[in-house]
Formats: sequence, structure tokens, C-alpha cells
Amino acid sequence: MRGDARSMRVLAPRTPAEASRALAADPRALALAGGTDVMVSWNMGLLNGRTVVDLSRLPWRRVRETKAGLELGALCTHADLRRHPDVRARFPLLAEACATVGAAQIQNRGTLGGNLANASPAGDTFPPLAAYEAIVRCVGPTGRREVPLAAFFTGVKRTLLAPGELIESVLLPAPPRPWTRSLFRKVGTRAAQAISKTVFAGLLRVEKGAVADVRLAFGSLAPTVRRLKAAEEFLRGRRLDAEAAARAADLLGLDVSPIDDVRSTREYRLAASRGLLIRFLKGD
Ligand SMILES: Cc1cc2nc3c(=O)[nH]c(=O)nc-3n(C[C@H](O)[C@H](O)[C@H](O)COP(=O)(O)OP(=O)(O)OC[C@H]3O[C@@H](n4cnc5c(N)ncnc54)[C@H](O)[C@@H]3O)c2cc1C
Repeated sequence: MRGDARSMRVLAPRTPAEASRALAADPRALALAGGTDVMVSWNMGLLNGRTVVDLSRLPWRRVRETKAGLELGALCTHADLRRHPDVRARFPLLAEACATVGAAQIQNRGTLGGNLANASPAGDTFPPLAAYEAIVRCVGPTGRREVPLAAFFTGVKRTLLAPGELIESVLLPAPPRPWTRSLFRKVGTRAAQAISKTVFAGLLRVEKGAVADVRLAFGSLAPTVRRLKAAEEFLRGRRLDAEAAARAADLLGLDVSPIDDVRSTREYRLAASRGLLIRFLKGD
């Protein structure tokens, strides 16, 4: 059955407090940002009879410089972020990821907050956010809290947002020193409108010939985005050569557990991810 607009109640709060009150008051109410995920459910008739809380009047579509780095409002669209000069200059992997989400129509509507709240295992912004050690700022009936991205996702399509709680912004801490090398890669069936089979973000800092810091994150290889803790640990302090890169890639399976599904197989996902990782570490 198609969505029936007459049976859907839409609220358009002007303040975050009003929005979270409306959501907390009705357990079946749903926030609406760009609608690129919500409208798919609406189109299938899944939202008939539900209240939708439209967030578009909230002042959350802005990028701000903070003492610690950048704050990205939850209503920033992927197009806003892929074009923003500070995001491109300081957090280029996120700008690149936003440029691969869907195609132009989806990038013009879809928001960062909606991407995070939707919590798909294949969310393309998540590996860069994990590598940059982003913090999710949430606001709800009991106030504000900041949650590290690593703790934000609790499973497939699940987050630790409480009833009535919203994502207000994402904080990106500035790195202490510039990265030596960075890479974002998405592997899908096509260049556009493809959901990732695997998606990677890597940051590497080499000092005095050895790895001083390394952050490796994959999406689509587990229920939630994963940092490769074992490979990172192995690489820290080591001189990077072909052998170290191959040995780090051998540790991939300790932190991810890809599945076979309609988009790919476990085997392909592991092989492609291993290739990406070695390429990044060798600097090819
Ligand atoms: C054709 C198509 C292609 C796509 N391609 C990709 C892709 O390549 N990569 C990718 O990662 N995604 C993709 N998506 C998914 C989607 O576009 C993104 O997840 C997008 O960022 C969602 O943002 P939105 O503002 O449209 O969210 P909405 O649809 O408005 O909301 C999504 C969910 O988040 C909740 N929500 C929204 N904002 C907030 C907030 N501030 N606080 C709390 N909860 C909130 C809503 O209640 C809802 O549950 C695609 C979708 C479509 C339809």
C-alpha cells in the first residue's frame, strides 16, 4: 500500500526542545530530516497513521569552528559537506565520502544526522568519522550529551539514541599534527547510486621512518563500522614495508565479520578490503 499523506500528522517544531518533546511524547513519532530514508518507508505505506516531526526549522545546518576542531550541524547535507572549504581542507575523507553517497539528488537532500541515525552497516560517512574519531552531540529530554562514534552504533540500524533524543551535531577533533597519508575508497557495483560492498578510510602518520599513528576503519564488513584495532596495534612503531603491510592485512579478520548478502559475498568483501588496505599502507 502507498503512503497516504492524509493519515500522516506532520509537526514542524521551531526549537530542539519542542522537537524532542514531541518525539518523547509519542513513541511512534519519527524525526524527518532530508527524508531520503524516511520517504522510502512512507512510499511503502509504513508510516500511515504516524506522526512525523520535521526538523527542517532547527538551526542545525551549519559548520562551525570550535576550540577543538569543527562542529558539523546534523542538518548539513552531503552536498554541503562535500563542498565546504574547511571540511575539504581539514577532513578531506569525509568530503570524499559525502561525494559518493547516492547521486546528486540524494546528496542535496540527505543529511549527516539522518545518515548516522539510520545506522546502516553500509553508511558511507562512517569510516571517515571513525578514523577522525568523531563525537556525536545528542540533545534530548534530559539534556545534552557527547558520545564517541565508536559507542554510538549498537547494531544494524540501531543506535544508543534514547526516546526523544536527537543528533544535534558531529564534532571533529583537529589532529595534533598533519597526517602523512590518507585514503577513502568505496567499492560498489557502480560509480553512483551504489551501496558499498566495502568502504574504507585510512589515516597514517609516519615520523622518523616509523608509524607514529594509524587509523584504519571499514564499513559494510560488520553490523557497525569497525576500526582495525589489531592491525593498528601491530603497525604502531613499525617501519612500513611490503611485509608489514601484508602482515597487517592478515589481521583484518580479527576485527570484521562480513556476510554474504544481495550485494556481495563474504569472500569478495574480505579480498577487496585486504587489497585496499595493502594499497593504502604501501602508498600505491
Ligand atoms: C537512492 C538512495 C541512495 C542512497 N545511497 C546511499 C549511499 O550511497 N550511502 C549512504 O550512506 N546512504 C545512502 N542512502 C541512504 C540515505 O540517503 C542517507 O542515509 C542519508 O544521509 C539519510 O539522511 P536524511 O536526512 O535523508 O534522513 P531521513 O530520511 O530524514 O531520516 C533517516 C532516519 O534518521 C532519523 N533522523 C534524521 N535526522 C535525525 C537527527 N538529527 N537526530 C535523530 N534522528 C534523526 C529519522 O527519524 C530516520 O529514522 C541512499 C538512499 C537512497 C534513497
